Amino acid sequence: ATTPSKHYTITLLPGDGIGPEVISVATNVLKLAASLEGIEFDFQEMPVGGAALDSTGLPLPAETLSAAKQSDAVLLGAIGGYKWDKNEKHLKPETGLLQLRAGLQVFANLRPATVLPQLVDASTLKKEVAEGVDLMVVRELTGGIYFGKPRGFGVNENGQEIGFNTEVYATHEIDRIARVAFETARKRSGKLCSVDKANVLEASIFWRKRVTAIASEYPDVELSHMYVDNAAMQLVRDPKQFDTIVTNNIFGDILSDEASMITGSIGMLPSASLGESGPGLFEPIHGSAPDIAGQDKANPLATVLSAAMLLKYGLGEENAAKRIEAAVLDTLSRGYRTGDIYSAGNKLVGCKEMGEEVLKSVDSQV
Ligand code: ATP
Ligand code: MG
Repeated sequence: ATTPSKHYTITLLPGDGIGPEVISVATNVLKLAASLEGIEFDFQEMPVGGAALDSTGLPLPAETLSAAKQSDAVLLGAIGGYKWDKNEKHLKPETGLLQLRAGLQVFANLRPATVLPQLVDASTLKKEVAEGVDLMVVRELTGGIYFGKPRGFGVNENGQEIGFNTEVYATHEIDRIARVAFETARKRSGKLCSVDKANVLEASIFWRKRVTAIASEYPDVELSHMYVDNAAMQLVRDPKQFDTIVTNNIFGDILSDEASMITGSIGMLPSASLGESGPGLFEPIHGSAPDIAGQDKANPLATVLSAAMLLKYGLGEENAAKRIEAAVLDTLSRGYRTGDIYSAGNKLVGCKEMGEEVLKSVDSQV
């Protein structure tokens, strides 16, 4: 191995359920892939979620947030479980996750949906449609109708009770998510599709205007626009037409879940949440899966691929990221499967053994 030339601090937040199992695997893979690129890590493990509630009484202890803020990137396992389901809202594990996202000021959520050649059969779509799908949804995470004011309940002019929310986006909110999306498209195939409802909504007309304005900073990226109803349809009709999609908070919520279903394997899907400066937050899209926790059954690959996103989008270490992605593909090609992605003729393994096989694949790369 080469002499380490770069040094990063990574905060590990294993959390609850299968979190600790998948984080342990991903950390080992991250360490090995990075060392082959001359990168060294300091890992600091901190409590979050239900685990933190049990040990400190809070779902996000102040020490955990400050450690996360001071590090170069944060890798999270999963949060939550039956044990804390009856807790009051401020003492729920999930509240810790919301506080963490707010504390890190991550406004851009990146969710890839990739149909890997080895797992085409897991897709919910027909083979011809699913084959070769490789897209990324970039969702605005801290603005829009989920946070806009005014919001609330009242009575209208006819004396009817009403509930209302407001879709608001300011220039800087759209500009910064657009820049993340253009940068992401640039790291991928250079195609960006902005999704809105500009035929109906003022906030969407403004969204389209700002995204178009920011496009002039990225002449190498090809920008298109699509209405959200059409995008929802096109995602299942012909998902291969998309590379990078950028959209607002509510449309992104829906489209990213729709896109993930195309792949059919929740145990394989990573995510990244990025801020303006400061560390990004990287986590699998699955939850704590309490039904299989502690049984060595969890698929660690969503977290392993989250570690690859940490390298690529969090640290700009694309070569080390490619090593991890290639190792995951190689391990699948060698027939190893956890229960969630198993099909006849493959080798069924547990979480730990899957991790060991991925390490072998990283190791065998030159
Ligand atoms: P959340 O915690 O976000 O509410 P959820 O309870 O809706 O999530 P998950 O915890 O993601 O759902 O899991 C749903 C089911 O999918 C689990 O019960 C488990 O059987 C399966 N599952 C989820 N993640 C994995 C994984 N990494 N490996 C294997 N199976 C998984
Ligand atoms: Mg759950």
